[in-house]
Amino acid sequence: MPAFDVAAVRREFPILGTSVHGRPLVYLDNAATSQKPLAVIRRLERFYAEENANVHRGVHRLSEQATSAYEAARAVAARFLGLADPRGCVFVRGATEGINLVADSWGRAHLRPGDEILVTHLEHHANIVPWQLAAERSGARVVVAPVTPRGEVDLDAFRALLSPRTKMAAFAHVSNALGTVNPAAEMTRLAKAAGAAVLVDGCQSAAHFGVDVPSLGCDFFVFSGHKTFGPTGVGVLWGRPELLDSMPPYQSGGDMIRKVDFDGTTFREAPERFEAGTPNISGVLGLAAALEYFMPIREAAHAHEQALLAAATERLRAVPGLTVVGEAAEKVAVLSFNLKGAHPHDIGTLLDADGVAVRTGHHCCMPLMKGLGLAGTVRASFAFYNTMEEVDALVRAVERARKMTA
Ligand code: PMP
Repeated sequence: MPAFDVAAVRREFPILGTSVHGRPLVYLDNAATSQKPLAVIRRLERFYAEENANVHRGVHRLSEQATSAYEAARAVAARFLGLADPRGCVFVRGATEGINLVADSWGRAHLRPGDEILVTHLEHHANIVPWQLAAERSGARVVVAPVTPRGEVDLDAFRALLSPRTKMAAFAHVSNALGTVNPAAEMTRLAKAAGAAVLVDGCQSAAHFGVDVPSLGCDFFVFSGHKTFGPTGVGVLWGRPELLDSMPPYQSGGDMIRKVDFDGTTFREAPERFEAGTPNISGVLGLAAALEYFMPIREAAHAHEQALLAAATERLRAVPGLTVVGEAAEKVAVLSFNLKGAHPHDIGTLLDADGVAVRTGHHCCMPLMKGLGLAGTVRASFAFYNTMEEVDALVRAVERARKMTA
């Protein structure tokens, strides 16, 4: 594998050259949202400067071009997930909308009183609350697989909680709060053997390593464009086409119908059935540009990030009073920690004064934090454009914060 040229990569991300409080920006909040390469920024500009038109409706030249670019983007999204058939890829607003769509639409078609939806204790709220609402509507109930103190899903407990009542198992591929990589293929295999459908929340895996949906074996997979170097307001829900076709519409209106009549309306098949109204056309094209940019460097990027994670973990562990939260055997480059006697928000504010952007708090994982007995953590989350010098800057800023809060 050729050496990963991080300096060249950084030149593709203009924001990385900016300053905060007079200090060079050290952006370590990638799990919240990633930065965007020029390929994406320029794609958005080109669309609005030269190509803007609505899709799927016009017979005129621009509309036809926009439609073929939009459908080509669907094929890129499919390729990104290791799929030959783009039909199951539905463009949504993001992972949140994707999960809500499945919980609502699949839930209406398949959940009955007494059924169970199995999630894990480390889920993001986006993969908890939609299932709670689906359970309320249907009379099903949400069952939770525990997480060990190291931050790994307890696989034996997960297995033991599966039963013929389990109709859906929905879990994160990677924990946003701790970086844990779940054994998603194994969890899927277990859940499918019990007869459940499986949704994998890939929000935090898609930006870190190659995702191959066929080898995961799941029924649904979601990710957000903005965490994968693309624009905000766009994401992908992939579902097995035959399963999507068995589900009622989630939203309705233009583009998703076959025929509208006051005597009755018929709907198109997936993916159009789930793309009512004018979609986020520029966002979809920007996302395709992001995925095209990322795919060729994905493997080298992962290796580089793992080196950053190893160095940052070792260096931070040596800071007196610092506890690393989440010590799973397999992690992406997400590092959660606490400093003894200091509130995570105070640490975050002090780090910001040094130009170091991290996230603090519960990371939309209140049940996980409660389970770990914590109010929250400080989370440094890396992307492939981060550097060893930025690990140094993080450690220096944490040392300074420790002295100031001691
Ligand atoms: N799931 C996970 C694991 C996440 O990290 C996030 C975002 N933090 C979401 C779901 C929701 O993603 P979005 O806000 O982009 O819809």
